Amino acid sequence: MQKILLIHTGGTIGMEGSEHLEPGHYASALVEQLPEYMGIARIDSAILCNLDSSDIGPKQWSELARMIADNRSKYDGFIVVHGTDTMPYTASALAFALEGLDKPVVLTGAQRPLGALRNDARRNLADSIEVATLDIPEVAICFDGLLLRGCRSCKVNTRAYHAFDSPGCEPLAKLGVDITLAKHIRRPTAPFRCRPNFNANVMVIHITPGIQLNTLKCLLSDEAALNGIVLIPFGVGTVPCLDSKIADFVAQATAKGIDVLVANAAVGKIDMPLYENSQVLLDAGAISGGEMRLEAALVKLMHACAVYKDRNERLEYLRWNVAGEME
Ligand code: ASP
Repeated sequence: MQKILLIHTGGTIGMEGSEHLEPGHYASALVEQLPEYMGIARIDSAILCNLDSSDIGPKQWSELARMIADNRSKYDGFIVVHGTDTMPYTASALAFALEGLDKPVVLTGAQRPLGALRNDARRNLADSIEVATLDIPEVAICFDGLLLRGCRSCKVNTRAYHAFDSPGCEPLAKLGVDITLAKHIRRPTAPFRCRPNFNANVMVIHITPGIQLNTLKCLLSDEAALNGIVLIPFGVGTVPCLDSKIADFVAQATAKGIDVLVANAAVGKIDMPLYENSQVLLDAGAISGGEMRLEAALVKLMHACAVYKDRNERLEYLRWNVAGEME
């Protein structure tokens, strides 16, 4: 029989209360709620933490990655029970930390707690258990009948059970009457290694009309201590060039040794050579994030800054499609 390790981190799925949800006692009992699933896999559970996912970040990502790496030879698959708010960030962190992954790591959670009537928790857990027994060696989010590539996913709805999508990346599996697996499920291309390091001195700057250059320049002060910036421009990579010369800011950042990674607010690839107003970013030393969205781009840059001290190695890593995040 397949063996699965279910790691609890918190989130609505196990919360209690009606108006003000708080972490509850469900954590250890999650698996007991689904006795029929004990027949398809032996499920052990572990509690890493019991947090609202807005409190989950680099520290917990590292602990999770280590826990999975340490238990890799003992289990056929892993389930991470997690709050929905930051699930795509944690999924991206695991995808980058667990390079050459050869087993499924499935993140799931719920919009309504397991203890509530008409909840989505039961189905999401049941689907995740089944998916974690399949040959899908990726970090994925299992939610509302879909299995999505973790490093391409984003939260799209706070009220509907269809809470996640992976725009521009077809689901890895659809869980209807049958489970249909997609052809683009990745296979490990390198030996497994766990590098659970993240540098939190990275921030996101979303370019908006009227953005002030002077405000941005404060971020280049020594107190700000930034090592990386994820820049979200307009369209395929355009930025204001008349009143606020954003490219000047990018050039100053790169001259200070701060990496600037350009990620997408919409679906599609960053294409900086396409317009004069995007070529300026390339000329200023910015790096294209391909099809990466905010969540994956932020976490990949945090990872690159922590793992590679040498700028050329960092840039090479940022351009490499590690876990299907780029295309
Ligand atoms: N605030 C919750 C969390 O992310 C929301 C959820 O789990 O759906 O932990």
